[in-house]
Amino acid sequence: MALRVAVTGASGRMGQAVARAVIADDAAELVAFVARPGSALVGTEVTALLGADAPGLLISETLVLEGVDVVVDFTLPESTLHTAKLCATAGIPVVIGTTGFSGEELSSLERSLSSLAFCRAANFSTGVNLAYRLLTIAAEVMGGDADIEIHEAHHKHKIDAPSGTALAMGQVIADAMGTSLDEVARHDRSSQRAAREPGSIGFSVTRAGDIVGEHTVMFGTEGERLEVTHKASSRHAFAAGALRAAHFLRDKPAGSYSMADVLGLS
Ligand code: NAD
Repeated sequence: MALRVAVTGASGRMGQAVARAVIADDAAELVAFVARPGSALVGTEVTALLGADAPGLLISETLVLEGVDVVVDFTLPESTLHTAKLCATAGIPVVIGTTGFSGEELSSLERSLSSLAFCRAANFSTGVNLAYRLLTIAAEVMGGDADIEIHEAHHKHKIDAPSGTALAMGQVIADAMGTSLDEVARHDRSSQRAAREPGSIGFSVTRAGDIVGEHTVMFGTEGERLEVTHKASSRHAFAAGALRAAHFLRDKPAGSYSMADVLGLS
């Protein structure tokens, strides 16, 4: 039986990308597409909005979980907290792509999700999650000798910096090297005149135009340089990964699952 998926964020870029991916997947069915309360989209046809075939399905204002196998949420922290509470009450697994939670919001989210199977990731693309593994190997083999720099570029609308993915890459490297990212991360070099500190991890950020998401990690040593680069060219990369996670969660017992679990990399 096709996986019955509810998607939130009908007016959002990611919500729409996920809904399109669900509609295009023969093994899944879009059974609900939810806009924020008061949105002009509420009550309109999904087919008209997406130009993809979802016969008879109207955009809704509230998330009704009857007949839903899994929920996919890429919205805003406040909205995701609400979705997680509804999922917890109904016992429905949830895939969460929203980023930018405060510490307090994260604690509240974790409490809501404790009884559910869920997958939360700062980046659902297959390539980025594979890059985490490559970075672990690179850090183990050459991290001790290398100057490590992480550069990321995103579209001009993105408000958090560096990206959650850049920080996750730094975390993977710090873990592999047995250090604390907080201690070794350098986000600003303009305030002091000093040579690069050995063992530090430098972060730099570009915001321009419609860049979907690019990350490069450089391991620079005397005589050579290794660069691991990932470029997302469309949001489909994240949507496809989130849908893969949704399929993965279907038969899973309650617990927190990572994209490494979903991709068989753990
Ligand atoms: P966006 O601003 O285009 O969309 C967010 C949408 O959420 C808005 O349209 C808003 O109307 C909607 N929303 C707010 N409250 C709602 C509610 N109660 N019910 C339903 N919808 C509601 O942003 P986006 O580019 O789609 O990104 C959404 C989130 O996903 C961000 O946090 C972004 O950082 C994150 N993101 C994660 C990944 C990943 O792979 N994990 C990839 C891309 C984006």
